[in-house]
Amino acid sequence: MSRGDMAKPLLGHRSIEGDPSITPVAGRTIGVLGSGDFARSLAIRLVCSGFKVVVGSRNPKRKAGLFPSAAEVTFQADAVKKTDVIFVAVFREHYSTLCDLADVLAGKILVDVSNNTEINHHKESNAEYLASLFPACTVVKGFNVVSAWTLQSGARDGNKQVLICSNNQEAKRTVAEIAQAMGFTPVDMGCMSSACEIENIPLRLLPAWKIPIFLALGLFLCFFTYNLIRQVIHPYIREQKNKLYKIPIEVVNTTLPCVAYVMLSLVYLPGVLAACLQLYYGTKYRRFPDWLDQWLQHRKQIGLLSFFCAALHAVYSLCLPMRRSHRYQLIDMVVKQVVEKKMNIWVEEEVWRMETYISVGIIALGLLSLLAITSLPSIANSLNWREFSFIQSTLGFIALLISTLHTLTYGWSRAFDENQYKFYLPPTYTLTLLVPCTVILAKIIFNLPCIRQRLLRIRRGWEKGRYVKFVLPSATGEYSSGETSSNV
Ligand code: NAP
Repeated sequence: MSRGDMAKPLLGHRSIEGDPSITPVAGRTIGVLGSGDFARSLAIRLVCSGFKVVVGSRNPKRKAGLFPSAAEVTFQADAVKKTDVIFVAVFREHYSTLCDLADVLAGKILVDVSNNTEINHHKESNAEYLASLFPACTVVKGFNVVSAWTLQSGARDGNKQVLICSNNQEAKRTVAEIAQAMGFTPVDMGCMSSACEIENIPLRLLPAWKIPIFLALGLFLCFFTYNLIRQVIHPYIREQKNKLYKIPIEVVNTTLPCVAYVMLSLVYLPGVLAACLQLYYGTKYRRFPDWLDQWLQHRKQIGLLSFFCAALHAVYSLCLPMRRSHRYQLIDMVVKQVVEKKMNIWVEEEVWRMETYISVGIIALGLLSLLAITSLPSIANSLNWREFSFIQSTLGFIALLISTLHTLTYGWSRAFDENQYKFYLPPTYTLTLLVPCTVILAKIIFNLPCIRQRLLRIRRGWEKGRYVKFVLPSATGEYSSGETSSNV
């Protein structure tokens, strides 16, 4: 990038000075210590948001050309004198080199934007360390969760939230106002003890996805091995037939729907277990075991992975006729038919099975897509609670029922054919039916009036062995109330 390019702000293609539509936020001057990537992006964003910016560098002459012309680049001590709020865009290991500025920094707000390279790398957070070096300053932790790129491209294209914490409410409010003026959403994370948690956030790798991904991989591995034994190893051992070519597409394509189907049932299984526990203990105020709590919290990710596997299965299935092996098998069949002088190989039952199987599969995939789309925060936020629970709970359960139908039409009567038991192993689809059918059966039982009523009362605060006043909606939608005990 040329010096001329760097002189212009990347955002807001209009000049800030002289534009009456932009009101500078109290015309505040903000200081930035450091002239690296983050400092530069921050300065550009601040200038575009109507702030005056003064950058403190050890070598202002060399660095001035990297900043927009509206920002003043000067020596560190000079910059600090001109402002009350200073962003410290310097790595933690260089904080001590700023100690010479302690006197001029006294009484000012220091915003610690730093990150670490490892989770819990140091005993104390970077912000606490900075506060210990400059006891006469007020330190606020913030902006570390936004990257230099997000700062430059604007909040619209990146993470909008800026997590802020400090022991000083006033300083925290000032930094929150600055964040808001820059187009970000400040989130108050409390006092300085939260700094460590905020510093760990950018270092976490898909924390909510770890368990669901391992679960999906584990299931994939189990079903893949099972299918490999049945489809490749069995024909090799029993008939010396080389079926290795089946591994990349056929074995994978019989594994993916198994994972998708079982994962979908695992979205609804924890709800069933939670209901069982509530019925058993007769209260909703008893904590679920940790593993169940974790499982309940990961349902969205498990569901999305189920959709991902189902979508892959659909694509693989569409590509089946494209394979060379399929074409050879088709030609072989035709030749065989001609040799045997067979005119018609139409099997009505098979035709109906296949038509139903594909149609039901498409509907199941459509419903799963709907569930996946509505689980996205932007869509979920536009739905009210009833709409969201109808889609995720009722339609989700219908998707499970239709997927079961899809599996059953695939298997048809194969479970009763002894040739399908390779090495005495039952067909894979019979195994996949186990968990989903348990969930469906449990849901049906929970919907029996006597159990449904008891569960509803428990979820509204009724407890076994305690007299509580309860209010229940009647069938007509009116509310009835009464005193009850465990024996009722
Ligand atoms: P950088 O490009 O390496 O810049 C660091 C700056 O620190 C240098 O340009 C230098 O400016 C200044 N500095 C002051 N004293 C120094 C010393 N003794 N030795 C070396 N440099 C010294 O790093 P950065 O990417 O801008 O990151 C700066 C801070 O922002 C870090 O704490 C980082 O964790 C945080 N952060 C960065 C990002 C990002 O996307 N880059 C995102 C979130 C948080 P002068 O030479 O002008 O003094």
